[in-house]
Amino acid sequence: MNTMRFALIYPPFYHKKFNENLPTTDDEFGLFPHIGFGWVSAMAKRAGWDVRLFEAACMKVPYEQVLAEVQAYNPDLLGFAGHATQTFRDMLVWARRFKRDMRLPVVVGGYECKAYPYEIFEHECFDYLCVGEAVTFVEPFLRAFEKGTDYDKVPDLLYRENGNVKRTFDAPHVPYTEHPFPDRSIFPNDAFYSMVSQRKNFTIGMSEVGCPYPCTFCSMRHTGFEGRTAEQLVDELENCVNDHGIHEIDFFDPIMLFDRQRILDFAAEVKRRKPDIIWSCRARVDNLSFHRSDRGPDEELIEALAESGCRRIFFGIESGDEQVLKNVKKARSRTT
Ligand code: SF4
Repeated sequence: MNTMRFALIYPPFYHKKFNENLPTTDDEFGLFPHIGFGWVSAMAKRAGWDVRLFEAACMKVPYEQVLAEVQAYNPDLLGFAGHATQTFRDMLVWARRFKRDMRLPVVVGGYECKAYPYEIFEHECFDYLCVGEAVTFVEPFLRAFEKGTDYDKVPDLLYRENGNVKRTFDAPHVPYTEHPFPDRSIFPNDAFYSMVSQRKNFTIGMSEVGCPYPCTFCSMRHTGFEGRTAEQLVDELENCVNDHGIHEIDFFDPIMLFDRQRILDFAAEVKRRKPDIIWSCRARVDNLSFHRSDRGPDEELIEALAESGCRRIFFGIESGDEQVLKNVKKARSRTT
């Protein structure tokens, strides 16, 4: 059988449409890889498929040229990512155009598809929708797609049969420590940057998934915490440096510093192996003080972060008013 081809398409992202109150960021906001496609690619390759990403935000060419390149690739399946509210409309426009111009099956996944699966599946440009994780979905889905049958055996799938929308069963949970690294070979890694990044190549990563905190306004609340081990994190850093020339990584997970001992172990492992890479992360302000009874700065942790290459921490500061923080359940606390 000929190798099946999977074209992943990432449309340009017109941030000006929703960022008009942040004119200073404008064009310099940055270009980031949609790292979820890295896991899609890793799992599709395990299934024996060829994968190519068409990163139109980096290509900076019009739709017609991207279409020509995708047509030249001659794929069997098109993939789109519904991963963020602010990019969804642009993605939908391109998914409709590609459906019209190539008449190929289209699959969509991502965080928005978990949150609003049926609403998104009302758009008929999508033939299949993943409501779960690429790691458990992609391989069984592609096997069913090759056969053109047995879609009911694919976990986390929305599809249509005889005019009816069907939702299959939930995938079994696979711990984050067992997920592969995202396949960064599909990305134009030299094209990415953020407005505050310092080195190239630049990428993003996920050191953990979930957040155990209860903040009332946040879709991540009460989603647990699963972190990669210190050794796995440094393995991934070495993979970034050695295989992709990456020297800066921004960890996008919501609360990287939540497990203090994991970060101290990570810093010690970085010190031992010395990968040539700097990094940044997201955290709560109290992650830097919560183990101390006097709530003072956690100097041991802060020094370990700096020594291991941490150059920036993005804090979520919703309010300076303690009562407001209490009202939205973001007051200082461990997890309650
Ligand atoms: S700590 Fe941050 S990520 Fe976690 S629930 Fe609160 S706002 Fe969301």
